[in-house]
Formats: sequence, C-alpha cells, structure tokens
Amino acid sequence: MHDPRTQPISACPVWCATQHDHADEEWDGHHTSAPVVVPAVAARISQVTGGTIERHAEVAEFTVLAQRRADEPADTWIIIEGERQWMEITLESARRIYLELGRLLARVD
Ligand SMILES: [Zn+2]
Repeated sequence: MHDPRTQPISACPVWCATQHDHADEEWDGHHTSAPVVVPAVAARISQVTGGTIERHAEVAEFTVLAQRRADEPADTWIIIEGERQWMEITLESARRIYLELGRLLARVD
C-alpha cells in the first residue's frame, strides 16, 4: 500500500490551497489547487428507438483543479470534473488541449 506519510514529500507548490499537515493521517498525499467551478451547458447524448442519436443541452458545472502527489513532484495532473464527466490529464496534455482549443475557438467564433 502506498502510504504518503512514509514517502519523501515535496514542499507545497505555490498553487496548493490545501491546508494539510504532512503528518496528518487523513492527508491523502496530494497537493491540490483551489477548485474553480465553471458553469456550462453540456450535451446529454441518448440513443432512441431505431438507433437515432439525440443530443440534449443541459446545465452543468465543471470543477477544474490541479493536483500533484507529494511524493511525485514531477507529475502534475489537471482535473476537469463534472457530474457525469471526468478528465484527468497531465499538465503537458492540458497545455496542448488549451492551445488547440484556442485555435479552434478563434476559427468558429
Ligand atoms: Zn500542498
């Protein structure tokens, strides 16, 4: 079992908003940024009789945050979490998506 209390730990990165005591038994071993909630409209996809796919717009919220294991300081993960969706990607992957999303939005706006 991976016990963060027995591993070498890194100091909190500047973006860490977690109030944690590294000796606290309840600490999950992660540095975590303050979560940002982003309101959105998301698609709910359903398949109706006959195989037709329908898309319905629904109000949603996505929480965006960064997380890094204290004993793995080289790996920062970006998490985008909705009620029905979850994405956890590396910082580098998030940068690539951010870049491509910017290019896409510039074309379709
Ligand atoms: Zn921290």
